[in-house]
Amino acid sequence: MERSTIVRVQEGLHARPATRFVRLAKGFESDVEIVKGGKAVSAKSSVKLMLLGVKEDDEVTIRAEGADSIEAVEALIAYLENPLSGVDEAAVEAQSAPAAPSSAPANRPAPAGGTGGLKGVPASAGVALGPVFAHFPAQIAPRNETLAPDQIGAEKALFESAVARLQERLDQSLAADGMQDSDRGIVAALRDIAADDALRDETLDAIDGGLDAVSAVIAASSRLAGEFRALDDAYLSARAEDLDAIARQICLALLGQEDARLDDIADGAILVAEDIGAWDLARAPLKRLGGVVCGHGGATSHVAIIARTHGIPAVLGLGDAVHQLREASEAAIDGNAGRVFADPDDAARKRFAEMIGAADREKEALKAYKDLVPRRADGKIIQVAANLGALEEIEAAREAGAMGVGLFRTELLFMRHMHLPSEDMQAETYATLARAFPDHPVIVRTLDIGGDKPIAGVEFPEEENPFLGWRGIRMCLDRPDIFKVQLRALLRAAVHGNLQVMLPMVSDVSEVRRTRVIIEECAAELAAEGVAHADFPLGVMIETPAAVFAAPALAREVAFFSVGTNDLTQYVMAADRLNPAVATLNDASHPAVMAAIEQAAQAALAAGIEIGMCGEAAARSDLIPEFIRMGLTELSMSPASVQGVKKQLSELFSGAG
Ligand code: PEP
Ligand code: MG
Repeated sequence: MERSTIVRVQEGLHARPATRFVRLAKGFESDVEIVKGGKAVSAKSSVKLMLLGVKEDDEVTIRAEGADSIEAVEALIAYLENPLSGVDEAAVEAQSAPAAPSSAPANRPAPAGGTGGLKGVPASAGVALGPVFAHFPAQIAPRNETLAPDQIGAEKALFESAVARLQERLDQSLAADGMQDSDRGIVAALRDIAADDALRDETLDAIDGGLDAVSAVIAASSRLAGEFRALDDAYLSARAEDLDAIARQICLALLGQEDARLDDIADGAILVAEDIGAWDLARAPLKRLGGVVCGHGGATSHVAIIARTHGIPAVLGLGDAVHQLREASEAAIDGNAGRVFADPDDAARKRFAEMIGAADREKEALKAYKDLVPRRADGKIIQVAANLGALEEIEAAREAGAMGVGLFRTELLFMRHMHLPSEDMQAETYATLARAFPDHPVIVRTLDIGGDKPIAGVEFPEEENPFLGWRGIRMCLDRPDIFKVQLRALLRAAVHGNLQVMLPMVSDVSEVRRTRVIIEECAAELAAEGVAHADFPLGVMIETPAAVFAAPALAREVAFFSVGTNDLTQYVMAADRLNPAVATLNDASHPAVMAAIEQAAQAALAAGIEIGMCGEAAARSDLIPEFIRMGLTELSMSPASVQGVKKQLSELFSGAG
């Protein structure tokens, strides 16, 4: 039985639609294949399906053989022609496979020299001196043993039981209490790959050919990973890492070994690694970490953001030089200058000990400002809030005394999963955030993603200038299917606290108006469905020159402004924020940028709305007095900066600053 059709699935068959399709296929006993361009693969393997690269408008054939072949072909064709009908969303959602975010791009190693030590990217400020915890999980080498024919059956059984043990372990982790949603997503992704037929079949074939199980797993996974890497799709290429990760776990199970665990890290140790994946990072005892040094990663990588949030000094992007630290017993790191010293000599140890002592004393003294509420002479409270990217960071923000959240970057939520996060999952995340700061505003920014960061379920066009392209509010307005899920989740979460919502990359008033129409549509739908929801104040980021010039008009439409100096600076100065060659121009204190901020502030004051700042400049002690003079009433920053800024404001308002 076979039938052909034209695919109407908007993003093609990868990520979530692939999971749905495979689950549907697995519901039938028949062998089912999907054929595109003469190539046929099993419809029951999401790995093979993703590799087939089926896109919207492709012609495919579904072929089935077995007792229920007619039903199977009809159901799968119906799904391809009308993907939104007849699928049990909840069941698919519960089973679908989120994934670890792809690792940060490698930075070119900077040459060692200058003031000594190894030079990397200063990714999180602070200094540290501590024992080295080298985390370089050994590559598992294929043994390439040739099996005798009578050993093959037993070797296959060993492989099957290793996979079963691994799946059991992953299932246990998933069932365990206290696991964060983000971790759960990563584990679920790995479990699904472990269960996928593509890896299993290819490994069994290799064992049938006489190869030992470990070598067979390595051969099969590297071949499949290679196919993913070769795809012209950043998101799918990144799936190769998931395959590598699961193959490694299967091999360890076969060898009866376990990976070194970061839980064993000593207090104050410097974690040294080639790269730290989300899987490890989710489990790292962050409170015990003295510092982080990685061969990969840059200042905007996931590791860097987490390190900054927790006030852990970090130097990343050392390249191959990181291997020089593997055998060191101690390391000193300067996260401000981006330098690392392996086994520092007495003079360096002394210097670092003094710097650390001074920093510790300052940190201790700053704790006195944790609960301070900065007030201007006229009594107006200045909110010193936190920038967060994940729920794991709430604790650090509360411990720092953050007065709410001035920017919750929702991108990570989307990048961490192999599918678009569901409305329920998003609503729970935003509600948890709102509940965590019952006395303060929590500002959630709608999805701000561009062509440089892949997320599952959205195909980004190749762009010459991604920073001037299809990102932020522009992408969301073009994709109401994605935007509405987020807005519905925000409306639902608003019931649980003082939630506010802000739009990124706004450059025209019409973007706000169009968003409002969608919000009203979502609210009406929720009302009709009898789902509890509440309205929220809507604000915009001021991060494009257009938003500055249009500020008077924007101020009439929204409840607040928040200045995004990271982008505003790059656009005002026409200096790419990621390009070190123009780093000196990329400075928020430039008079042109300061004039832009002042212009936006005047528009906000004239319209009687609040203006705050969530770009990195909000924590710059040299600029804070200016921002306060301009009338900004909220400064939002990494939690590690909160107490220092509160201290500065208290001195400023008491006349001491
Ligand atoms: C900004 O541009 O200043 C900002 C806060 O947003 P992001 O850094 O996430 O682009
Ligand atoms: Mg920005």
